[in-house]
Amino acid sequence: MDWREILYWLHEENERCLEDLWRRADTVRRRHVGNDVHLRGLLEISNHCVRRCWYCGLRRPHYGLKRYRMTESEIMDAVDHAMRVGCGTVVMQAGQDDGLREESISHLVRRIKAETRLAVTLSLGERSEADLAAWRQDGADRYLLRFETSNRALYKRIHPSLPGESSDRVAMLPYLRQLGYEVGSGMMVGVPGQTYEDLADDVELLGLLDLDMIGIGPYLPHPATPLAQRCAGLSAPSDRQVPNTEIMTDKVLALARVVCPLANIPSTTALATLNPFDGLEVGLMRGANVVMPNVTPIAYRSLYEIYPSKACVNETADALYERLRKRITATGRTIGTGRGDSPRRLLALQTSGPKG
Ligand code: SAH
Repeated sequence: MDWREILYWLHEENERCLEDLWRRADTVRRRHVGNDVHLRGLLEISNHCVRRCWYCGLRRPHYGLKRYRMTESEIMDAVDHAMRVGCGTVVMQAGQDDGLREESISHLVRRIKAETRLAVTLSLGERSEADLAAWRQDGADRYLLRFETSNRALYKRIHPSLPGESSDRVAMLPYLRQLGYEVGSGMMVGVPGQTYEDLADDVELLGLLDLDMIGIGPYLPHPATPLAQRCAGLSAPSDRQVPNTEIMTDKVLALARVVCPLANIPSTTALATLNPFDGLEVGLMRGANVVMPNVTPIAYRSLYEIYPSKACVNETADALYERLRKRITATGRTIGTGRGDSPRRLLALQTSGPKG
């Protein structure tokens, strides 16, 4: 699918015409990654953050937010819980937290790999090359780092660099791949200032990056952030500004599936937050093949406030799993067993054949 066609679909609003896109994404999904829905336990291990991103409620200057960092035993209990509710992967996510020392993450990764059969995904922001290499050596399998928007000027504005560095997430992705991680990236949909053309560029970039995992969610304003407070000043002209709606996010999800047939793509929490009734199932029917139940202890969950009113903030992991199981099987899908490794990578390994 080329850029023009991507743009065409982003503008399409006729529900009957959109059926074609949903059908196409669902067919590609079934053919390339099958009917399994993989569960990844999302563990939000710290909400400290050194950055000042204009969109995120964890930003350092959000002084009203109570900060936490989970202890090793709290993390291992939650990992155990993730395993018991049927997850094949644990995703350790946090703000960009300098207090999470390289050694302590290394130690955790080694423990999880030694004591469980879970795949380990890290999503800890822009860490040094040495940290990323060390964690891979310790056995971390995957790294998630969304590029957020491919519009360089908008990115610079809403994701300010730290003093003395120049943030370039797109440039970090090949390094992650070179280290041997399965690589995930993606963007927000409907950020003030994001035009339809920008979003078409984003979708095209997903294909060029040849990702193993793709995370796409609607931008949800957090009142304590500059982007929510000064949104009017940043928005593109109304006919060019992408809306942060469920349908627009579903379109991007479906397009991502068509452009990256083999990627693992979650139906995200942000999508379920926009539509708690059936946002999750609809995402699964429009290209997604992964769900990420939140296994963070409830006491911390509401503090990991990247945006307000996140879905499932008060539900225990067991209740959530039961609900997910029912909802997933009701869409005619099966729950994946095992780690749900990247089909893109498995295919690449097969076609490259044994070395030597
Ligand atoms: N510190 C890590 C994890 C950040 S949270 C990192 O920077 O990669 C994970 C994702 O949540 C971000 O990449 C961003 O795409 C999304 N996010 C942050 N604020 C958001 C908001 N207000 N609305 C929707 N998504 C948001």
